[in-house]
Amino acid sequence: MATLGPMPDQKIADSTENYDVIIIGGALSGGAAASLLLRKNPGIRILIIEKSENLGRRVGEATVEVSAYFLGHVLGLTKYLNEHHISKQGLRFWFANEKVTALDQSAEVGPRYLARLPSYQIDRSALDEEVLRRAVESGASLIRPAIVSNVQLNSGGQQTLEVKHGERRFTASARWIVDASGVNALLARKNGWWKSNTDHPTAAAWSRWRNVKDWDGRELAEKFPKWAAAVYGTRGTATNHIIGDGWWAWFIPLKGGDTSVGVVYDQRLVDFPQDGGKLGERLKGFLMKHPVAREMLEDAEFVEADVHRRKNLAYSSTTFAGDGFVLVGDAAAFMDPFYSPGMDWISFTSSCAADLITEQRKGSPMAARIEKHNRDFTTSHARWFSALYKDKYHYMGEYDLMELAFRMDLSLYYWGVVQPVFHLGEDALLAPPFSPPSGKIFAALIRTYNGRFAAIAQRRRSLNQLGRMNDNRRSLIPGFTLARSDTKRIFGMLWEWGKIEIKEGWHTWGRSKATETVPEPVPVADLPRQA
Ligand SMILES: Cc1cc2nc3c(=O)[nH]c(=O)nc-3n(C[C@H](O)[C@H](O)[C@H](O)COP(=O)(O)OP(=O)(O)OC[C@H]3O[C@@H](n4cnc5c(N)ncnc54)[C@H](O)[C@@H]3O)c2cc1C
Repeated sequence: MATLGPMPDQKIADSTENYDVIIIGGALSGGAAASLLLRKNPGIRILIIEKSENLGRRVGEATVEVSAYFLGHVLGLTKYLNEHHISKQGLRFWFANEKVTALDQSAEVGPRYLARLPSYQIDRSALDEEVLRRAVESGASLIRPAIVSNVQLNSGGQQTLEVKHGERRFTASARWIVDASGVNALLARKNGWWKSNTDHPTAAAWSRWRNVKDWDGRELAEKFPKWAAAVYGTRGTATNHIIGDGWWAWFIPLKGGDTSVGVVYDQRLVDFPQDGGKLGERLKGFLMKHPVAREMLEDAEFVEADVHRRKNLAYSSTTFAGDGFVLVGDAAAFMDPFYSPGMDWISFTSSCAADLITEQRKGSPMAARIEKHNRDFTTSHARWFSALYKDKYHYMGEYDLMELAFRMDLSLYYWGVVQPVFHLGEDALLAPPFSPPSGKIFAALIRTYNGRFAAIAQRRRSLNQLGRMNDNRRSLIPGFTLARSDTKRIFGMLWEWGKIEIKEGWHTWGRSKATETVPEPVPVADLPRQA
């Protein structure tokens, strides 16, 4: 784990002082937004207000290609990430059915070689503190532990908020407020913009664990030599996903030896145990039913003080910005942890927030920009969710369907999201995924095969035929590059999808509805305005 030096002098806010920007929340999205603003606007007066004295460990420990680009290239953290965190080796998936009694019989999907683009397994308590420390070092003021309790928005004018800092209560004001308050989603909840995504009733339970077995160690290599030899890279530094019907669990290694392990499930399909001891024991009991988790957690203990649960994970704000405020990270929306999109979302929301504020400071007209910001993020979130996540948990436990969906999802992520970021640089982070016109076509394609696979799995469920291919198979994926020729691989995958339709899918033709529903963003005129 990173050892942090002392914070640079914390400048204490004065109640009479006025800021250009106040950021609510000093974790990753708040710290990142502050750093970008300071870079684009030298001398800007920023106050960050953070509730906690020290940022604790939190979920959001696996980066993917875009979030790693943002942290490494945009925030300039590559050296820090290499020194204090773990270089990640892609995603692996482990399936099971009644024939699987040992780890080596589980159907596996994952890379054979090491990854080609950087990504990291990170301890968020260390990373977020480092991002915050750098923002303060670059000139932001920080008060902590301090809570923002009330915010008065004033479109085009000064925003005011109330702060409790120890015994002291004061009012602070700024031209802009950046809401980076995470799942608290202060502005969205206070203003009635917060909307639960009832189409996606997922929940999660997690902890950090000690003594999880080493995926690449001697013990498993001696017990399962053929299994060990099948992969040339390392399995242990991947995000390993243990998969069941309607649920998945992550195994994420953290620097220093702890492992983050948690389960996410669709509450329509899975009854997470309500009885049987403390939450950590129930979590372990649930996971131990899967042969791969049973092997890996045989000697493991969860950290008692670090066991968590959250229900109804998915939500969104109906408004993302107005003339004087902007929402970033989880304060704006949360979709689903599968494929780790949380920090990608932070990359786009923080970049666009910094751009919006910078444009206003340059004197650019704001109304059209704010309208575009709201339209882009509303469209991005709605298409991203309905393409990738809606009903995915119905087929998640099916090796053949998930294996193909994963390769298609990954290849289209490289084509539509990763390539633009690496080829165009950080400007590509100003166009959230699926928001440009081409996003409609990508979203429609993904939504269609995702909906078809869900319909096929639902039929298998009704026939009691789930999981038939979940044993003794291994798909070792060569990995994608940014070469344009790699995008052509999608055509072979579409052909494989066609074969599934001819063999089995035709039974359910007409059952999956793949329509696009992008809600209208709230018009700017409806946002609060004071004389
Ligand atoms: C189960 C699960 C697994 C996940 N796994 C991944 C993953 O592997 N990869 C990934 O990219 N994402 C993942 N995510 C998403 C990720 O956790 C979030 O997207 C990310 O942590 C959001 O960061 P943030 O800075 O926006 O908010 P947070 O990390 O929640 O920080 C918000 C900050 O605001 C402060 N705050 C809140 N209210 C106030 C207030 N009133 N006054 C002052 N301060 C306040 C808090 O103290 C906190 O420090 C996962 C999410 C879940 C639920």
